[in-house]
Amino acid sequence: MISLSMQNGQIIDPQRSLPCFGEFDVLVCGGGMAGFGAAVAVAREGCKTMLVERESCLGGLATVGLVNIPLDFAAGISKEMLARLDEVNGHWHRNSDPEKHKLILDRMVVEAGVTLLLVSHAVDAIVENGAVRGVVIENKSGRQAILAKRVIDCTGDADIAFFAGCECLSGRPSDGKHQACSLEFRLGGVDWDAYQNSDLKKNDPTWIKLIEKAVAEGDLPYPIDNHLNWVTHVPGRPQHCGKDEISMCFAHSRNCQPLSAKDLTRMYLEGRTQADILSKFIKKCVPGYENSYLIDTGTLLGVRESRRVLGEYVLKTIDFARAQTFEDTVCLTGHHYDLHNPDGPGNIKWAEIQIDGKTCYVSTHGKTGSWAPPGGFDVITDGFGRGGDAFQRKTLPSSIPYRSLVPQSMDNLLVAGRCLSSEFMAQAGCRLVLTCLNMGQAAGTAAALSLKQQIAPRKVDRKDLQIKLLQAGCELGQSYFGIPGIDVEKVVKG
Ligand SMILES: Cc1cc2nc3c(=O)[nH]c(=O)nc-3n(C[C@H](O)[C@H](O)[C@H](O)COP(=O)(O)OP(=O)(O)OC[C@H]3O[C@@H](n4cnc5c(N)ncnc54)[C@H](O)[C@@H]3O)c2cc1C
Repeated sequence: MISLSMQNGQIIDPQRSLPCFGEFDVLVCGGGMAGFGAAVAVAREGCKTMLVERESCLGGLATVGLVNIPLDFAAGISKEMLARLDEVNGHWHRNSDPEKHKLILDRMVVEAGVTLLLVSHAVDAIVENGAVRGVVIENKSGRQAILAKRVIDCTGDADIAFFAGCECLSGRPSDGKHQACSLEFRLGGVDWDAYQNSDLKKNDPTWIKLIEKAVAEGDLPYPIDNHLNWVTHVPGRPQHCGKDEISMCFAHSRNCQPLSAKDLTRMYLEGRTQADILSKFIKKCVPGYENSYLIDTGTLLGVRESRRVLGEYVLKTIDFARAQTFEDTVCLTGHHYDLHNPDGPGNIKWAEIQIDGKTCYVSTHGKTGSWAPPGGFDVITDGFGRGGDAFQRKTLPSSIPYRSLVPQSMDNLLVAGRCLSSEFMAQAGCRLVLTCLNMGQAAGTAAALSLKQQIAPRKVDRKDLQIKLLQAGCELGQSYFGIPGIDVEKVVKG
């Protein structure tokens, strides 16, 4: 309770004493894929670990957001997680069952010995002498403090770093606009085989022409998006009997402000309206979906990008195109530029980069279709200045350095997941589900090492960290370009 007292139109919240929930070696905030990876990695190193999540389950976008398509490198904890999902028939061709996924995450976190607190929102950071000492949480029991020697921010939005006063990057540099957000939805009663064998799937697989026709004929009030992003087949449900269940990435909100509760509310309402419109359009116009029905929408809005912490190294857009390697690489991503247009339909798979003072249009995977910028820019390079017939598709994965997980201006704090230190377009290429998990495993392992060695996380020796990650089965680039100064075979064989 606070007594009403106002100053300059603002309510005064006097300093209050807070009960302390507990003291931990490492506190992980946010239980999405990054937070899951971080918490399991830390706890397996024998640290007293706590994981705080504001939702009622783990997984973040990959479960409650219905992004049931865990892509990118499966190695270390991420490989183990997919194998556990396989055991319960919850994974098929990189499509997952969100419900079984929640259960597997619960089990793995509990088995690792993590203290888990759900339905608890981290609302402030506790800082002492330039180092994070804990966070303040709010839940049904009120406001409490949790103290920890190390904190890992896996909130997706870099909430803890922001509360602690770290400088953060946010949105597109030219105007601060964020990537489009999408509320995912599931449909049941789908005849998957009929759809797979349809002319539409063969001739217009991402529904571009179908959408144009539907808008022209009034079956869609406006092009919610100009193509179908993806459709996944939820495993473990009825199959090949006309009653399949699918998950869809098709809704699209523009001009998004994912750090404003007011705009999040607008997007949830818009997303549900779009799911209603789209499910009716699909039922009417898409072969195999004649008997389909809307099951649900995600309870977590699909926010692709919000805040990114300013770290020791800001992953650059050009690094991504060039598959730049780093001495301190802790994980890889095989994705391409994938920016969902902040103010229109569609996604952008090319980047505008100044190279040697010249504006270049860079694409990593191709130079036609959605890989090419609109407006007739015929000079597209692959990031090395090669254009025209000399253009080369990127063949090697991109690397993420440890320094992109270390905030520049705060000690005892690491970040992992989609809020890593990166330029806007670089983030658009390394935000996949398993990349976030792998970053989490790296941050967790680094936090544990820094505690054991009694040094600040930024001082962790990259070789010590890489050796630990290799021993845990992680992919740091050893399959592609080796790791400087480390005899990988020797490390892996022990
Ligand atoms: C629409 C959409 C489609 C996508 N498609 C694909 C795809 O096809 N394949 C793919 O691999 N990836 C895809 N992605 C990307 C991928 O899903 C995410 O980038 C990734 O899952 C992010 O993981 P994360 O742990 O960093 O963040 P999140 O999943 O956002 O997790 C953050 C967690 O922190 C919690 N949290 C936030 N703030 C607080 C707080 N203050 N206190 C406590 N808890 C908090 C949240 O509830 C959440 O559980 C897609 C993303 C979107 C949005």
